Amino acid sequence: MSLKAFKKKGRFYKGNIHTHSNLSDGRLFPDDVCKAYIDRGYDFISITDHFLGMFNYPLTRIKSNFKDFCTIPGAELHTSKMKNGELWHILALGLKENFTPPNQPSFLIEDNSESAEKLVSRCLDAGAFVSLTHPEWNGLTLEDTNDIQNAHAIEIYNHSSAIECDRGYGLAIFEQMLNKGKPINIIATDDAHFQTSDAFGGWIMVKAENNNAIDLLESLKKGEYYSSQGPDIFDISINNNELSVSCSSVECVIVSGYGSSSLYKKKPEIKNIVFQIGSLPKNKWIRVTIVDKSGKKAWSNPVFDY
Ligand SMILES: [Zn+2]
Ligand SMILES: [Zn+2]
Repeated sequence: MSLKAFKKKGRFYKGNIHTHSNLSDGRLFPDDVCKAYIDRGYDFISITDHFLGMFNYPLTRIKSNFKDFCTIPGAELHTSKMKNGELWHILALGLKENFTPPNQPSFLIEDNSESAEKLVSRCLDAGAFVSLTHPEWNGLTLEDTNDIQNAHAIEIYNHSSAIECDRGYGLAIFEQMLNKGKPINIIATDDAHFQTSDAFGGWIMVKAENNNAIDLLESLKKGEYYSSQGPDIFDISINNNELSVSCSSVECVIVSGYGSSSLYKKKPEIKNIVFQIGSLPKNKWIRVTIVDKSGKKAWSNPVFDY
């Protein structure tokens, strides 16, 4: 049986769902951000400007009507503080204009601002796809994640954090969450501000019937997508104890499971490969990583029923 992203009807659409424009601290006008991504062959983006009073709590819209290109309304919300005293950064896609801001005037910590738990809960109630962002950059801990119930995803890769401060990954905390029995998916994003070369490094491939915000959001919430820095995953299927991967040409395929368990195969130009996964712990989680010859990776979402 193929994993749901590959079993679902439709086609894969390429998108970046974490981007900033000059309506917050990005360099480009929103429509120019879209043009940059269209020129690179993307199908959709979400411009997620910082949802702060100093920027008038933007839910950024574009003026142009770009053919065959979708923008999902979204924002990067901030409130309160994490256990280490850093401001929360939370990505929410699919918010409506009437979403009540969390009284967060600026990037400075407000002692009386809304709790992150409550803010995330309001986003989920509003129908948003909610993600925790750049966990390595701002030092998100497992204890912090206990306060956030039911976020859909966490960034496994944030290109801007990787380029600018070598804190781009989120793998350790993501797997700790899974090991704790907390199901969550992953996203790779740019977090592009276009102040540096921080675009086109991490994206998601979402399977949907149509390239519109409703269909894309539905697929995102169901986990019907994978994340990438370069390679493509065409299919992952599990039958009995056999896991098969079909992908663009890579040099290494890894199947990771609960705790420190994993399986690994490396050889030139892998396009199809099969693993016997009977040795991995049962009834926990497994996920697939592929690595191409330049070291670029793609990641599946975790699977729990195998
Ligand atoms: Zn952020
Ligand atoms: Zn950001």
